[in-house]
Amino acid sequence: MRIYLATGNGHKVTEFNRMLRGDAAAAPVAHFLGAGDVGGMPPVAEDTGSFEGNARQKALALRARVPAGAWVLADDSGLCCDALGGAPGVETANYAGPSAPSALNRRKLLDALHGTPAGRRGAHFSCVLLLIAPDGAEFWFRGKCPGVILEAEQGDGGFGYDSIFCAEGTTCSFAQLSPAEKDERSHRGRAFRAFLGWLAGRQEKLPISGI
Ligand code: IMP
Repeated sequence: MRIYLATGNGHKVTEFNRMLRGDAAAAPVAHFLGAGDVGGMPPVAEDTGSFEGNARQKALALRARVPAGAWVLADDSGLCCDALGGAPGVETANYAGPSAPSALNRRKLLDALHGTPAGRRGAHFSCVLLLIAPDGAEFWFRGKCPGVILEAEQGDGGFGYDSIFCAEGTTCSFAQLSPAEKDERSHRGRAFRAFLGWLAGRQEKLPISGI
């Protein structure tokens, strides 16, 4: 099963491959390729106003480029803060302006929550995954990771908002977790495990060559 990932974000490709390799049953069956293998990720407006709509835009844009018989997996994710009515949400990537560097996005969020007491700094990361089969059938998987926004950056690992997000059940930022610890808790890890569960169910019904 050749699956092209509809993202130009190298961090995500690395995370997906790491999570796939961690599953002994799935690793020999599925194989991820990046958009770079088919000429790069086409530009996508990501203007639908929902994680689901944006994921579909990305998946369909890449689908036009992949060889016949290939599958496409697109993800869309973002950070939703309770005290900001769910913002930045679908604007997470561009919070401080179009294609703003992550450091500026983090700064803007810390400023927006400046003075907000600990009990009101709740937030969650959300991830939706859309898998499109060669015949166009769509399969959806979702994951959420609740936590809080820290008052200042902690750690310099990870990417995006990692250094200002502390997941529920931990006492440090996402940036300070090992990759395996982050995968276990993260929104993408949870959505990915839902995908792995679906893949396992499919393998039970079909011979490997039929996937
Ligand atoms: P997109 O899904 O590529 O559109 O990403 C949306 C935004 O969410 C980007 O700014 C990412 O940096 C951020 N983001 C998504 N997942 C994570 C994560 O696991 N850690 C930190 N930031 C993330």
